[in-house]
Amino acid sequence: MDAIEEKPPLRCAECDREKTHYNIFLSPTNEEKVVCWECLQRTEKGFNAKRGFRREGRHGDIPR
Ligand SMILES: [Zn+2]
Repeated sequence: MDAIEEKPPLRCAECDREKTHYNIFLSPTNEEKVVCWECLQRTEKGFNAKRGFRREGRHGDIPR
């Protein structure tokens, strides 16, 4: 069975366009920041030097 996740389009904080594929980041001040996948990819490439921003985070312990 395919569970289709329907999300309403939200405006990306980076490119200022409405996107249906995005991630929402919660800042320390509890603000939600919407970043679309395109901007995410751009950010990953541009900020590769940032430590801790590697794949390790993807298959580490994910708190549930
Ligand atoms: Zn964007």
